[in-house]
Amino acid sequence: MNTVAMADSARAAAPALDVERIRADFPILQIRPRGRPLVYLDSAATSQKPRQVIDALRRYYEEENGNIHRGVHYLSELATLRYDETREATRRFLNAESVNEVVFTRNTTEGINLVASSFGQAFVRAGDEIVVSLMEHHSNIVPWQLLCERSGAVLRAVPVTDTGELDLGAFESLLGPRTRLVALTWVSNSLGTVNPVERIVAIAHARGIPVLLDGAQAAPHLAIDVRAVGCDFLAFSGHKMLGPTGVGVLYARGDWFDRLPPYQGGGDMIDTVTIEKTTYAKAPSRFEAGTPDIGSVVAFRAAIEYLERTGLDAIQRHEHALVAEATAQVGALPGVRLVGTAPGKAGVLSFTMEGVHPHDIATILDQHGIAIRAGHHCTQPLMQRFGCGATARASFYLYNTMDEVNALVAGLHRVREVFA
Ligand code: PLP
Repeated sequence: MNTVAMADSARAAAPALDVERIRADFPILQIRPRGRPLVYLDSAATSQKPRQVIDALRRYYEEENGNIHRGVHYLSELATLRYDETREATRRFLNAESVNEVVFTRNTTEGINLVASSFGQAFVRAGDEIVVSLMEHHSNIVPWQLLCERSGAVLRAVPVTDTGELDLGAFESLLGPRTRLVALTWVSNSLGTVNPVERIVAIAHARGIPVLLDGAQAAPHLAIDVRAVGCDFLAFSGHKMLGPTGVGVLYARGDWFDRLPPYQGGGDMIDTVTIEKTTYAKAPSRFEAGTPDIGSVVAFRAAIEYLERTGLDAIQRHEHALVAEATAQVGALPGVRLVGTAPGKAGVLSFTMEGVHPHDIATILDQHGIAIRAGHHCTQPLMQRFGCGATARASFYLYNTMDEVNALVAGLHRVREVFA
C-alpha cells in the first residue's frame, strides 16, 4: 500500500480516543515554550506524565514513604504493599503467569545488562554466538559486546531490508549450534518497524535458542501478552509509557530467574550471609539488591492503569492514523527521504531533508514550540545501513492530535524556506 492509501485507510478507522480529555490529564501540555503552544513529538525518547501518575508520586512521598521488606512498622508495611501492588499490575499488564517473573530495574538498559551479565556468566562460553540485529538501540548491542569481550563469544547481526524490516531469511541462517541467545528489539525506535516477534520466537525456539526482546518501544504502544509471544526475557522502561523515570521491568519466563546467578549483591537479595558464604533469595528479590526507586515503582502502577483504562488497541489505532497522515504529508515535501517504511509501523516518522542537517530541522521546529529529535537515536549501525549519520524523528503518542501533525508539516515548510 502506498503512503496516501495508508493515510486513507487509517483515517477510515476513526480514532476512538477522546484526545481532548486525555490531554487535560497532562499538565505539561499546557506550557508555552518560546511563547508557542507545545507540540510534543518526542515520546519515543520519553513520554509525558498524566496527573494520575504525578499525584501517585506525590501521595507516596506525602503519605506512604518507608523502606520496603525491612520493617514491621506501618509505613514500611504500606510501602511494601504498594510496591507489591505494582508488581501484580505489571504481571497483569504483561499477562505473565506469576509475579515472580517480574523484576524491577531502573530501565530497559539495566534489564538487558542484567541478562547479559547473569545469563552470560551461566551459559555463554568462548566461541558461542549471540544474535542481535542492525536495528538495535545501543543498549541492546553494547551489553552483548561487553559479554563477548569477557567470554570470547561472537556477536552476529541480522541485516535490515531497504524498507527497514528484519531479513528473516538471513535471521534463520544466522542461527547455528553455537547460538546461545537471540536479542532483538520488538519495535524499532528509529524506524517504527514492528518486528514479527511471535514468528521470531518460534524460529529460535525450534532450535532450542532462548529469546530476549527489547520492549522499550513496544510496552508503551502495544497490548502485550508474553504467554502468546513466548519470549524468554522482555525488558522495558516505565518512563516511555507514562510512568516516572527510575523504574523499568525485566520479565523472565517460568524459572529463568531461578536459573541465573545474581547480577548485583547487597541487601534484600540474600537468604543467609556468613563471611564464608552467602545463599541467595529466590526471584524476584534475588535481582533487586539494595533500596530500589520505591516511589517511582509505586507511581508506575498509575501509568499501567491509565494505559489499561484507555486501551492499548485504541491507542495503537490512534497512533497509526497520526503516523499515516504524517507519512503522507511529510513524504510529499520536496527533498524529503523517509527512513523506515515498513507496513504497520508504530508511531515513529524518521526522515532526512536534502541540504538540511537534521539538527537544523529540530532547532528551527523548536523555535515554533515543536519538539522532535534529531541524531542517530542511539542506533548508529542502523544509520550506517541507511547511509545517513542522522535523521529527524517525530514520534507520536496517545495525547497527540492531527492538528499537531499539521503543525509539524507547516514547520517543515518553514525549514525549507530558510534553506531555500
Ligand atoms: N531500546 C530501545 C528500542 C529504545 O528506544 C530505548 C530508548 O530510547 C532503549 C532501549 C533504552 O531505554 P532506557 O534509556 O530507558 O534504558
